[in-house]
Order: sequence, then C-alpha cells, then structure tokens
Amino acid sequence: MNKQHRVMVAGGTGLVGSALVRRLHAGGYANVLAPTRQTLDVADAAAVRAYLQQHQPDVLFIAAAKVGGIQANNTHRADFLLDNLRIQTSLIGGAHEAGIQRLMFLGSSCIYPRMAVQPITEDALLTGPLEPTNEPYAVAKIAGIKLCEAMAHQHGRAYVSVMPTNLYGPGDHYDLATSHVLPALIRKVHEAKQRGEAAVPVWGTGTPRREFLFVDDLADACVYLMEQAYAGPLLNIGTGEDISICELTELVMSVVGHTGHLQFDTSQPDGTPRKLLDVSRLTALGWQARTSMREGIALAYADYLARFG
Ligand code: GDP
Repeated sequence: MNKQHRVMVAGGTGLVGSALVRRLHAGGYANVLAPTRQTLDVADAAAVRAYLQQHQPDVLFIAAAKVGGIQANNTHRADFLLDNLRIQTSLIGGAHEAGIQRLMFLGSSCIYPRMAVQPITEDALLTGPLEPTNEPYAVAKIAGIKLCEAMAHQHGRAYVSVMPTNLYGPGDHYDLATSHVLPALIRKVHEAKQRGEAAVPVWGTGTPRREFLFVDDLADACVYLMEQAYAGPLLNIGTGEDISICELTELVMSVVGHTGHLQFDTSQPDGTPRKLLDVSRLTALGWQARTSMREGIALAYADYLARFG
C-alpha cells in the first residue's frame, strides 16, 4: 500500500474505522473512501458488490462489524452471529469479485479458546472450546479469518487477518448495556463523581484480566503492516500487558479524579478469566504500541467530556 492508492475503510465511522481514517489522512493518503451507513449498507451483498465495482479501491480495510460488550454479546447472540457473517461475507466475497487484491480483516482476541495458554499465540486458534458469553461473535470472526485464508489459498489474494485485543479511545460507545468495560467505567466513574457517590458499580468479581490497546495505536499498526505489504498468517495486535478489572477501575478513578470504592455486581458474568495476547510476531515485524494506559484513558475521557460532559 502506498499514498497513491485508493484505500477503502469499511466501517469507517466506527471506533476502529474512524481511527484508521485519521491515521491514513495523517499519513498523507488523499484517496480514502469511508462510506457512511447511509451511503452503503455493508451487510447488503449486492450493494457492496456494486460499490466495490464502481469505486475499485486498491486496498480494503474491514473494520465494519457488529460489536459490543459482554452483556450485548451474551444476549443478542443470533444478531452477533448473523450480522457479522453477512457483513464479512459481502465484503470479502465482494472484494474478490471486484478484483481487489489486498484486504485486511479485523477480528478480535475472543476468537481464541477460553482456556488458551497465556499470553495467547496465534497458533492457539481452534485448539479448544470458546468462551460461551461471546461464542457467536467469535465463530463469525473465525469464519472471516478462514475465508481470507481460503481466498489467499485458492485465488492468490493477499487477504490478511489481524486480531486486536480489547480496544478503546475517541469515538467509543458509552451505552452501559452494550458497551465494553473501559468506556462503561469511564462513564460510571464520571457519573459517580458528579453525583457525589462513593460507590462505583463494577460487573462481576473484578478479578478477570484484560489487555487494552488505544485505538489510534491499532490503526497505526494496521497501516504499518499494509505499507510493509504484510501477507503472512493471522497476526495478534496488542500491548503484551494486561490489568485486572479492579486495577483498571482504580486507574480510571485516578484519571477522572474520583475517590471512592468499588461495588461488585456478581450477578453479571466475568467472562473469560484472562485474555492477554502474545505479540512477539508483531514485535518481530518492527511495531509496538506507544500510548500508555493512563495517557489513553485521559484521551478517551477528554473525548467523553467533549461529547457528553
Ligand atoms: P469481554 O472482554 O468480552 O469480557 O468484554 P467486556 O469489555 O464487556 O468485559 C470485560 C470484563 O469487564 C468482564 O469481566 C466484565 O464483567 C467486566 N466489567 C466490569 N464492569 C463492567 C461494565 O460496566 N461493563 C462491561 N461491559 N464489563 C464490565
């Protein structure tokens, strides 16, 4: 990929897609296509095929997906499976039909088995049962990875898959019922501070460990890999460090400036006990994350205040 290329970001208005568009513009890419939902329904295979054939992007990033936190994934199980299968099939299949040679499919670290050895290497894929709370989403993403691999194998396409760890940053979703843990905690801590309440409600036991990557770092990694013409196997993208949900809540409290205590709601699920990616393949390719968690949470909180404060 180079700056003369026409680069399309599917899902370009979401958390990941908008970070990709920011990074491409900052990197001097003048020919970036990022259709909104109103312009292109990415789940509509015929519409996607027509769009790709008309615009003929040289490169396609697939950041379009139905995403959500533990409760949304666990409740709307059919939607997560069906919507993601539709979106990725229309984009990957449509890209092939339109003759697009280079594509990057973004998955998620939840594709790996629930009890995978930590940190999780790419080779852990399909070696054990998945975490039940997000199994439908994970199954869809695994199908997307396998479709990219099959396109490469059967048709010689450079369709690569990358697996980001839990992401956060500007443009995130703060709906408490559907969001991921970090935006939920930013909102809960902010609201507790505003109301003068000491207790910060935390789902589960607070003991699960998660790894968090600032979304602009993810976008940088994706562009870096495409510029290197990475055409290898499935690749993890993360920081290589994790934190417990308790420690994370305390960090958010420190950034927001709230002193109080954690109140656990153990009627909510913990999900997988630990999810830490092995990023040694990515490190060996010469990329590593730059934004510390404290810096990243401060930037996400500033975005939250600008939009909702
Ligand atoms: P996961 O990584 O797929 O489990 O997705 P989440 O980001 O939704 O949740 C991560 C962990 O944070 C789980 O153990 C949740 O129980 C815990 N958690 C604590 N408080 C919250 C909250 O307010 N919202 C969410 N989504 N998760 C929370």
